[in-house]
Amino acid sequence: MIVCKFGGTSVGDAEAIVRTASIIRGRLHRQPVVVVSALGGTTNVLLQIAEQSVKGQLIGALRAVEGLRDRHLTQTQLLLRDDPASADEVAGELSAMFDELAALAEALKTLGDLTPRSLDAIASLGEQLSSVLVVAAFRQQGLNAEHVDARQVMITDDRYTRAEPQTDAINEAAQRIILPILRGGRIPVLGGFIGSVSGTGVTTTLGRGGSDYSASLVGAALQAEAIEIWTDVDGMLTADPRVVDNARLIERIGFEEASELASFGAKVLHPSTIAPAVMKGIPVWVLNSRRPEGTGTLITFDAPRRAVTAIAGKTKVTLIKVRSTRMLLAEGFLRALFEVFERYHTSVDVVATSEISVSVTIDDASRLESLVVDLRVLGDVTIERNRGIVSIVGSGLSDGGATMSSAMAAIGELRVHMLSLSSSGINLTVVLDGDQVAPAMQRLHAAFFREETA
Ligand code: ASP
Ligand code: MG
Repeated sequence: MIVCKFGGTSVGDAEAIVRTASIIRGRLHRQPVVVVSALGGTTNVLLQIAEQSVKGQLIGALRAVEGLRDRHLTQTQLLLRDDPASADEVAGELSAMFDELAALAEALKTLGDLTPRSLDAIASLGEQLSSVLVVAAFRQQGLNAEHVDARQVMITDDRYTRAEPQTDAINEAAQRIILPILRGGRIPVLGGFIGSVSGTGVTTTLGRGGSDYSASLVGAALQAEAIEIWTDVDGMLTADPRVVDNARLIERIGFEEASELASFGAKVLHPSTIAPAVMKGIPVWVLNSRRPEGTGTLITFDAPRRAVTAIAGKTKVTLIKVRSTRMLLAEGFLRALFEVFERYHTSVDVVATSEISVSVTIDDASRLESLVVDLRVLGDVTIERNRGIVSIVGSGLSDGGATMSSAMAAIGELRVHMLSLSSSGINLTVVLDGDQVAPAMQRLHAAFFREETA
């Protein structure tokens, strides 16, 4: 069997859902289990509804509820127009969930307090809705689909909004609930992202983008032959095509390379979310549901060892340098330094240290003022805004000196503010002026991915 996960754009409207059905039709011989996200953008709207409600903006919140209801019911009518009876039935089922959402919004307004638990009750509705709609649509398309309430399979702890899956319980539930459906020749369809607390059954979510995680956990539980992550891009590319003209598809990429690339630009998926499957040796494919005939990208442990697999970049990075005046880098200095970042929930991306100074980059500078106040206690602080990062990633990057010297040669006279080679030796990160990220990426890409001659 295989697990096919369809992201928000692949189930965004009736047309996309019909395409998704035909992808599954072509895979029936592989016994697909289908995991779906919410209709694209729904989760964001649900979270806004929760926010507005606690702030007392009930009218706006209820208007947004009706907007979502309209959208779902319109797509239901489009998908089921040949079968008015089942259209009515599904519309009724979805409408009941929207009534519940409206009731939750009103309750939040009265309480004026948003707990992670009530946030999950609301955020989980997107996948509850989409999974019901997709099952009905699949049936209409002649597929023998059966709805599975993901909360009965995805058992978690009670850390609402980023609940930790409980693998043993999930394995047991997946085998008990999903396998019989497959054996009966039917297609199990479940929502991603959502789960429930072991024992109490209260609804949880796995964190934003969690549907990939759900797919990976289900695939690992059932020892799937493969996991397919269907999205709206062709796969992972050698660079962001908005920056580099001739970026090309990476057909196979190592799990660690994919992880290094994950924190950059056009994010396809976060590799940590597919770790449960990859650890079991299950191949994970990233595929484009708009172009299902494409080869996609395979993420695996045994990808070819290349000097450079991809170039990634991002701008709007803040570089912070702390120069220790007194103690130099005495014992405990780094701990004290990183505690400051922890205190303000700011994650550090790139780090370089020398005898007397530490340089770090951060993405999110919203707590910069407080950070600086506390960092000043440790030494002289300089802040450089509008920096950018370029990363050169390849499993064979540090196999010899040649690749790194070509990289530096390609960067040429562009001013480098910081350099860091990851401990695994597969990611060389360069901090530059923000406006030099694009030219640096273009130069590096040209140096390492020469135009293939016909
Ligand atoms: N719908 C959820 C989100 O937008 C989960 C997912 O799509 O993976 O975060
Ligand atoms: Mg996603």
